[in-house]
Amino acid sequence: MAASPAIAQWLAAKEEQPDALLFFRMGDFYELFFDDAVAAAAALGIALTHRGTHEDKPIQMCGVPIHAAEGYLARLIRRGFRVAVAEQMEAASARVGKGPLRREIVRLVTPGTLTEEALLEGGRANLLLALARVGREVGAAWLDISTGLFETEAVGDLPALLGRLDPAEILAPTDLNLGDYEPRRAPDTLPPPPLAARARVAEAFGAATLDGFGAFTDSEAMAAATALAYVRTTQAGKLPTLSPPAKNESTGALAMDAATRASLEITRARDGSVEHTLLGSVGNTLTAPGARMLADWLSAPLTDPVAIGARQIAWGGLLGEPPATAALRTTLRGAPDATRSLGRLSLGRGGPRDLLAIRQVIAVALEAAITLAGVKSPGETPLLDRLATDLRVDPALAERLRLALADSPPLRLDDGGAIAEGFDGELDAERRLRDDSRRVISGLQLDYAQRYGVAALKIRHHAQLGYVMEVPAAAADGLRGHQDLVLRQSMANAARFTNPDLAELDRRISEAAGRAAAREAKIFAVLVAEVLEHAQVLRRAAAALATLDVLQSCARLAEAGNWCRPEVTGDTAFHVTAARHPVVQAALPTGVAFQPNDCDLSPARRILLLTGPNMAGKSTFLRQNALLVILAQAGLPVPAAAARIGVADRLFSRVGAADDLARGRSTFMTEMTETAAILNQAGPRSLVVVDEIGRGTATLDGLAIAWAVLEALHSHIRCRTLFATHFHELAGLGQALPQLCPHAMRVREWKNEIVFLHEVGEGAAGRSWGVHVAKLAGIPAATVRRAAGLLTALERSSATGPDLPLFAALPTAEPAPDRLRTTLDGIDPDKLSPREALDALYHLKSLALSSIEC
Ligand code: ATP
Repeated sequence: MAASPAIAQWLAAKEEQPDALLFFRMGDFYELFFDDAVAAAAALGIALTHRGTHEDKPIQMCGVPIHAAEGYLARLIRRGFRVAVAEQMEAASARVGKGPLRREIVRLVTPGTLTEEALLEGGRANLLLALARVGREVGAAWLDISTGLFETEAVGDLPALLGRLDPAEILAPTDLNLGDYEPRRAPDTLPPPPLAARARVAEAFGAATLDGFGAFTDSEAMAAATALAYVRTTQAGKLPTLSPPAKNESTGALAMDAATRASLEITRARDGSVEHTLLGSVGNTLTAPGARMLADWLSAPLTDPVAIGARQIAWGGLLGEPPATAALRTTLRGAPDATRSLGRLSLGRGGPRDLLAIRQVIAVALEAAITLAGVKSPGETPLLDRLATDLRVDPALAERLRLALADSPPLRLDDGGAIAEGFDGELDAERRLRDDSRRVISGLQLDYAQRYGVAALKIRHHAQLGYVMEVPAAAADGLRGHQDLVLRQSMANAARFTNPDLAELDRRISEAAGRAAAREAKIFAVLVAEVLEHAQVLRRAAAALATLDVLQSCARLAEAGNWCRPEVTGDTAFHVTAARHPVVQAALPTGVAFQPNDCDLSPARRILLLTGPNMAGKSTFLRQNALLVILAQAGLPVPAAAARIGVADRLFSRVGAADDLARGRSTFMTEMTETAAILNQAGPRSLVVVDEIGRGTATLDGLAIAWAVLEALHSHIRCRTLFATHFHELAGLGQALPQLCPHAMRVREWKNEIVFLHEVGEGAAGRSWGVHVAKLAGIPAATVRRAAGLLTALERSSATGPDLPLFAALPTAEPAPDRLRTTLDGIDPDKLSPREALDALYHLKSLALSSIEC
């Protein structure tokens, strides 16, 4: 059976975007049909119904009202759907002919191509990343259509790049492994060949060649072309205003992979929140663009001491001028998110408030430039000087927008009232006609009463006839003689006439509202075009304001007095005094003080081996030193009394590894995969922070692995390392590994209880206190007692053994039972493979252990 015309139209649209849910505009609703409806109804929790049949089956459908569509879209995108929006391309009232209204897909909404405020997070960039490969070389290009950012990079370390950018959506060749970011892969796209790619990217920016923008590799150009083509598809052929592609030299950023970022909770905590993150604890920004920039700084710390120093000098400058900084903060509080407004305006998706944001950002930029002039004399703080230059925007545009825009413009242009009165004569006239119809009519009524000599003449509105003159029946005859009047209706006591002027008035009044709206839209479009002509300058000014916001946020940290400006050097120094973990410190209950700790990883002692009981603060100490490196290299103050840090090229942190069951990996497998990444990638300038390597397997395997990894870090990779372990035996390696420096978390024993001092000191921990911590955690008393008994027996039995007690045979309280003996007798060592020998050893040990009694 043939499909109904509307369904045929739907099927054709769906064929264009088979991977996306189709939002099909029908009047005041977006309707979804067939499987789309089933999926959307389930994801959104809305009612699923059906309407009509197709191929003898009922057509499932659900719908969302237009006015609430953004919220539903946001939910679908967050759940990983892509949505194609098909709009009605003709008005129902204006249509001629039969069949359904013309509908076209005007946009594909995907996670990486959002612009709406409601769909975006204010403090986070929303990046679309494209990757392309030529042989072994991988090129990356990423863009944020909500802000116009467009950058490329020749990829050296893909996991680090993914971790740094945290893209919302990724276009990549199918055979390129995206690791943890696999779920963000967009459907397959094919990059154009290098020459065509270069030409297309250049053309998109009105240039004949790409060379003027930078020396891009073939794969970078291909990635850039892929990203642009994808954006074009999603925006139905339209390309937003983007900054020309800028080549990013990745050597400039501290490399951190996704596991390191997750472990350190830099911009997002494991639970997805921002509050208990490094960003949350150092963020004092006042604007959304400032928050985004601070997140960028922390996600991509620098490796050039000079560039880091420039940031430090800049916030140092603000710190030295409290009154000017206070004024700057007041100014910044009024700064809108102009970059995102520009993004929307360039896509034709902006509203009156986006123009208002542009007007405000110019005013704020000019004010900030004046304040900045009072901070330092030129030349002393080059970064502030550059920002001051970027802030100088031509005030004429702001003045024009000030005159053009109403004081509080509506959110949507359709709501009317965006353009100020007095800006455009024609618009004012249309509006007057629309709004002052009553006044116009009473004036006309007076005029006609005089002209026709009928004092009782009234102008009334009639549903069918429109505006008419109504006169008493007695006066009707006198009016019939007038050529220009047409009698429309005679009644017993009155008559109704029209004339061409009244008909015209009727038409004009009813059309005035429409014309006022059209005129307003025209003026709006002109203003938008003017703004977009200044897009690059405005973007620079907005970026300068965001940078100032981050700098004042840094100054705020340093103002308290217990955050210092670290000395960042080009060597491999690492010496911090009285440092703190900002997130743990903030989370401590009131009245509980954080115990600051020093850390010295100078070349002669660059491997710090940390032992100590559970809950004593090992993970906190490890992470705090890694966070200090990030803060220092991002150019921020650090929570310490003093710090001297040689820039690290890579940072690895494996603290508190979690299961990765979703990807079918056990805890131990995850731990080993991550350890492999460190051993394969770390170099002498890296900083490695690892916690309890080897804990997830049999004790002997674990100890052996931890030992071997420690040796590799010490003698082959030769990097600065913080290594926490419960294998106290490793502290004995100090002699064999001269740069290894054993440390322990100090605890105090009091009435056989343990008090954590959270203090790190040199030396090895005497014991683990695991059983005590188990008691603190609420393990039932009987189990704790039994564990304590077993522990004493195990310790007693190993006291006489060799240096590494775990290698010692475990004691038996009774003579070995016959089973052990019989099994042992049954083994012929010469006939065993190494694997069988190991299995036999385990078996024997388990037999021996099962015989212990305490
Ligand atoms: P485990 O071995 O069980 O993982 P741990 O030794 O790594 O434990 P942490 O998780 O670092 O211990 O710390 C446990 C708790 O101790 C923290 O949540 C915090 O409340 C407190 N703590 C840690 N370090 C300090 C410190 N320097 N000053 C004050 N309190 C601290």
